[in-house]
Amino acid sequence: MSNIIQLLPDAIANQIAAGEVVQRPASALKELLENAVDAGATDIQVIVKDAGKQLVQVIDNGSGMSNVDARMSFERHATSKIKQSNDLFSIKTFGFRGEALASIAAVSQVELKTKSEDEETGTLIQIEGSELKKQEPIAAKNGTSVAMKNLFFNVPARRNFLKSNPVEMRHLVDEFQRVALSYPEISFSLMQNDMEIYRLNPGKLSQRIVGIFGKNYQDKLIPAEENTPHLKVKGYIGKPENAKKTRGEQFFFVNNRYIRSSYLHHAVHTAFEGLIQPDQHPFYVLFLEIDPSHIDINVHPTKTEIKFDDERTVYAVLRSSVKQALGAHHVVPSLDFSI
Ligand code: ADP
Ligand code: MG
Repeated sequence: MSNIIQLLPDAIANQIAAGEVVQRPASALKELLENAVDAGATDIQVIVKDAGKQLVQVIDNGSGMSNVDARMSFERHATSKIKQSNDLFSIKTFGFRGEALASIAAVSQVELKTKSEDEETGTLIQIEGSELKKQEPIAAKNGTSVAMKNLFFNVPARRNFLKSNPVEMRHLVDEFQRVALSYPEISFSLMQNDMEIYRLNPGKLSQRIVGIFGKNYQDKLIPAEENTPHLKVKGYIGKPENAKKTRGEQFFFVNNRYIRSSYLHHAVHTAFEGLIQPDQHPFYVLFLEIDPSHIDINVHPTKTEIKFDDERTVYAVLRSSVKQALGAHHVVPSLDFSI
């Protein structure tokens, strides 16, 4: 029998990889926002049209890219963020897989404009379904703009699979909020179909929380803080009386990366025991800082899951920091609850 195995052409390999990285407009937005933060931006603007189905654009004032790097950034496994496998154990940037731009460009029409500080002219690149359509010099400001147009234009089955505009918009806003919460020192804006949804000025975390969730959160926040050699916790928890039956306002960030963890949620929830009904969920925005060598974020391509070397300690420290915060604000279980 003749040999039949072949390496897949890049465009197809990219399209397959894209299935993991880009499920919907919001997953692309997350990647683009993280790239902007990694590039050291202090101002990040997001523009979406048609709940991201027509356009997701992120404009930053970060480092920008040279002409050569601009083209290179769309290659798979092309990254400026890690160089050797050891770096995987001390990741400080959001990105490191070098997959996002290649994946996005495989399943949409991308227009990149970028200029780095030390170059006179900028670069414009247009790529459609991994195919380079245009690369030319342009006049541009320092920084980068990536516009992702017509997501899944070449994968009709996946395009049809996208949800209604309100649902896709909700996902976009969720991603936006997560990144905006973890970087209160960066200014962010979000425009949808030419309407401004958010304009967030740089400030303190408490100001950012109020900017995102509204003025009525101002006096609902209790600061939480705990320092151990292994782990630092800081952030805000909501007062017990403001706990809600619905979830969605619970945020954990580990080394500034948003993560989901029912285990850690449980730690906070039990600290509120006796103060809220069992079916209620307290508001919290909590930042955990831990030596990157004690965690593994390379569990899943979207990097919202994490493995801790010692999750019991993390649980205990988190729980005690929330208990202390509640205690310091004289929020202790009432007698009725303890009998
Ligand atoms: P990763 O972020 O994992 O490195 P990406 O595909 O998201 O992979 O990006 C590839 C590379 O392109 C990055 O490593 C970075 O060097 C460059 N890049 C992407 N977005 C930006 C940006 N907004 N500003 C500057 N450089 C960028
Ligand atoms: Mg990236």
